[in-house]
Amino acid sequence: MQKEVLKVNCHLSLLMAAVLLLSILLAGCASQQLHPSSLPVATVNIEKLSDDDIVRVKGMLEKLTPMLEARRSQQTLATLTFDELYAPLTTDEQQFLRQFQNLNGSELGVKIPFRGMATGKEELVVLKGQRVKDLEKGGTKEVPPQFLPKNVYLRYGDMMAAMQKDLGKRLYVESGYRSSAYQLYLFIFYLSNHLYSIRETARFVALPGYSEHGSPQHQAIDFINEESLGEETAKEFDAQPEFAWLIKNAAKFCFVMSYPKDGKEGITYEPWHWRQEQTLGPACKLSPP
Ligand SMILES: [Zn+2]
Repeated sequence: MQKEVLKVNCHLSLLMAAVLLLSILLAGCASQQLHPSSLPVATVNIEKLSDDDIVRVKGMLEKLTPMLEARRSQQTLATLTFDELYAPLTTDEQQFLRQFQNLNGSELGVKIPFRGMATGKEELVVLKGQRVKDLEKGGTKEVPPQFLPKNVYLRYGDMMAAMQKDLGKRLYVESGYRSSAYQLYLFIFYLSNHLYSIRETARFVALPGYSEHGSPQHQAIDFINEESLGEETAKEFDAQPEFAWLIKNAAKFCFVMSYPKDGKEGITYEPWHWRQEQTLGPACKLSPP
């Protein structure tokens, strides 16, 4: 009899444990339902993130910062892969971030075309030791290491050899390749500058897959000259002999200026930003990635 009571007690405790577990699970589900943005479907408000989503973005950035800082100091941020970006995050945060990865530019009024995702695993060449004028301290300073897909690096080298021959000057790579995962991070990072409006942020920061800096088939280079004229100095840059040389000769090396004055993409004039273009002639065709 004693045994039977024990058994019953045991059954009861098992039953109670099961009920307890079920109620915990149900409570968990209920709280999930209160946060619709945790669902895997695209639920973010593109005009302005909800307060909960803003908290999530801040939480994610905090979690990602140590990894990003480590990559920055190793100077390998530009080759960050999606797996590496997602690794420090919870499943819920990963699902949330994936919504940003999958944003469709045309639905946000982005006029530049989708260029494809840059995985960070392409055959890349790293450029180190580029020195330009230090405008603050005098002397020269080193441009942080930049990456280029190998085929673009070779064409850039040919183009600079020709420029050097004609002008006795050359241009340096201020900004080359960056992976789509890093681009995704940048997009999330800059949301706060645009009051957490995805639509507004997309006017200033490329969505992953839309940046020509992460497009091995249309790879762009931001040039800087030895006087440190480049990005942020559009007027000065386009008055330089190097710029006039590019206008005349870059197409021979399969480079084209992406954002000229009054361009149809609605992007401000960027005389320093030139991309590879395969349609400039048979020699410009690249083999598929
Ligand atoms: Zn650029």
